[in-house]
Amino acid sequence: MGDTKGFMKFGRSLPNKEAAQERIKHFEEFVKTEEDIHSTTQAARCMDCGVPFCHSSCPLGNLIPEFNDAVYKKNWKKAYETLISTNNFPEFTGRICPAPCEASCVLGINNDAVAIEYIEKSVIEKAFENNWVQPRVPIKRTNKKVAVVGSGPAGLAVADQLNQKGHTVTVFEKNDRIGGLLRYGIPDFKLGKNVVQRRINILEEEGIEFLSNQNIGVDVSATQLTQNYDAVVLCGGSETPRDLKIEGRDFKGVYFAMEFLSQNNKRVAGDIVTAEDVIEVKDKNVVVIGGGDTGSDCIGTSNRLGAKSIVQIELLSKPPTSRTADNPWPLWPMTLKTSSSHEEGCERQWAINTQRFISEDGKKLSGIETVEVKWEKNVNGKFEMTPIAGTQKVIPCDLVFIAAGFVHPLKDGVLNELKVSLTERGNVATEAYKTTVEKVFCAGDMRRGQSLVVWAIAEGRECAEEVHSFLQKK
Ligand SMILES: Cc1cc2nc3c(=O)[nH]c(=O)nc-3n(C[C@H](O)[C@H](O)[C@H](O)COP(=O)(O)OP(=O)(O)OC[C@H]3O[C@@H](n4cnc5c(N)ncnc54)[C@H](O)[C@@H]3O)c2cc1C
Repeated sequence: MGDTKGFMKFGRSLPNKEAAQERIKHFEEFVKTEEDIHSTTQAARCMDCGVPFCHSSCPLGNLIPEFNDAVYKKNWKKAYETLISTNNFPEFTGRICPAPCEASCVLGINNDAVAIEYIEKSVIEKAFENNWVQPRVPIKRTNKKVAVVGSGPAGLAVADQLNQKGHTVTVFEKNDRIGGLLRYGIPDFKLGKNVVQRRINILEEEGIEFLSNQNIGVDVSATQLTQNYDAVVLCGGSETPRDLKIEGRDFKGVYFAMEFLSQNNKRVAGDIVTAEDVIEVKDKNVVVIGGGDTGSDCIGTSNRLGAKSIVQIELLSKPPTSRTADNPWPLWPMTLKTSSSHEEGCERQWAINTQRFISEDGKKLSGIETVEVKWEKNVNGKFEMTPIAGTQKVIPCDLVFIAAGFVHPLKDGVLNELKVSLTERGNVATEAYKTTVEKVFCAGDMRRGQSLVVWAIAEGRECAEEVHSFLQKK
C-alpha cells in the first residue's frame, strides 16, 4: 500500500451534502463533488491489513485494496480498470450500496472504516469525465441468441456479460423504460436517472437490443421465446409486496410503497400522472409502515412533495447504536441506521404493530390504530412478539405507505406459463442458475428473493458464465 500509516494521519470523511432544508426542494442527487485530494486522502486510509475482509464481503469480490492503492497514487485509470474487472456498474453501487465491504473493513475494528463506496464513485465518475468509459463492441459474434426477461441490475449484468462474449442479446422489459428498480423504485435523489440512462446508452451502442413494453407471459408468449432463442434468462425481480391484511386495508389512502415510489419516479421523469391515479402528498399526514430502505425512500419522497407530517413505524425494537457482543466485526452490524431521508425530517417509532386502518367516513383513511409490542425469546430460542396491554393508540393520518418488503416474484405470467419450479419461499428454484425448464436460467431477486443491487449484479455475472458454458456445449 502507498501509505501504510495513512489511517493514523487522516480521519474518515465523506463528501458534503446539500443542507436537508435545501435538498428537499428538489429530486436531484445532493451529494457534492469534492476535489481529487479528498478521495486520494481517503484512499490513503486503506492499510496493509493482510487479509482484506472488505474483498470477501463484497458480493462482487471487488479488488478494494488494489483500487484504493491506485487512487492513493493518483493512477485513476488503473483504479478504474481494477474496479470494472469485477463490477459492471460501479456508478450504481458507488451511490446506493449499503457497502458490506465497509462493515467488514479491518480498520473498522477500532476505527472508522475506509470510505470505500465513496472512493468507488469517485473512480467511476473520473472515468466518465475522462471518456475512458467507451462502448466495447464485440469483435466477433457467435451465432447464439439470448433473451433476457427484465432490465433491472441483474438483467443488465447478464446482458452485458453475454454480449461481451459475442452472443446476440435482447432484453425484454414490461415497463416503458429500461432499468428495473434502478429506474422505477429507487428515487432520483439517491440515483439520478441520467446515471442509469448513461449506462443503458453504452450497452445499446455495444449491441444489446432493449425492447420495452413487452410483458413476457402476458403480451408476449414465454414459450415462443424459448423456441426462438438459444437461452432465456429470467431476471424479473421480486415484485409481490408483503401486504398488511388487516381491517380497513381497502380505504382510500392506503398504498404499497412501490405504488407511490414508481408513480413519483415517473412524475419526475416528466410523465403525466392522471388526476384519478395521483397520490397527492402535499399538506398530508403520512405514516410509513416499515423501517427499511424502501420506507426511507418513502420519507424522502414525501418530504420533497410537501407532506405536513411523516411518522415511520417499525415492528422490531430500536436497534442499539453500536455493535453488541453477539454481533461482532466483521458481521453486518445490526445497529441503528439513519438514512439521508431520516435526516430530512420524520418521527421514528419502534416496536409498533398496526392493528387496523381507520376511516371517519368509511371510505377515506383517517388514522391507524397501533399497539406497542415486546420481543422476547421463546422456549426454542426464537424471538416472539407480544402486544403490550393498554398501549393501543391512534395515529391520525391521511396516507399510509406499506413498505414491509417483498415476498416473492409474481407468479402470474412468465413463471406460470413456463411452469418453472419454485422454492418453498416462492422464488425460482435453480441449480447453478438453471431453472427446471430446459435452456431457461434465472438470476437476481427473482431467484434469491428481495436483496440488493450489488447482489443482482453479482448474480447476473455468475449466471452469464453458466449460460455461456451451456451455449458453448450446444
Ligand atoms: C424502493 C426500493 C429501494 C431500494 N433501494 C436500494 C438501495 O438503495 N441499494 C440497494 O442495493 N438495493 C436497493 N433496493 C433493492 C434493489 O433495487 C433490488 O435488489 C434490485 O434492483 C434487484 O435487481 P433485479 O434485476 O433482480 O430486479 P428488478 O430491479 O426488480 O428488475 C426486474 C425487472 O424485470 C421486469 N419484469 C418483471 N417481469 C417481467 C416480465 N414478465 N416481462 C418483462 N419484464 C419483466 C420488471 O418490470 C423490472 O424492470 C431497493 C428496492 C426498492 C424496492
